[in-house]
Amino acid sequence: MARRGENRILVTFGCTDCRERTYNSNKSRRNDPQRMELNKYCPRCRTHTLHREVR
Ligand SMILES: [Zn+2]
Repeated sequence: MARRGENRILVTFGCTDCRERTYNSNKSRRNDPQRMELNKYCPRCRTHTLHREVR
């Protein structure tokens, strides 16, 4: 599955409220060199919360 190059890396997104790690995704290192933050639905909080990239 690994593509050539290292421009896409796996990241995990965790809810900033309850710290549950809810989403796995990947991102482009070139487009998003910083930590990404997304509004996602957290099944534990049962609402949309801010999710931040976890390393
Ligand atoms: Zn949560």
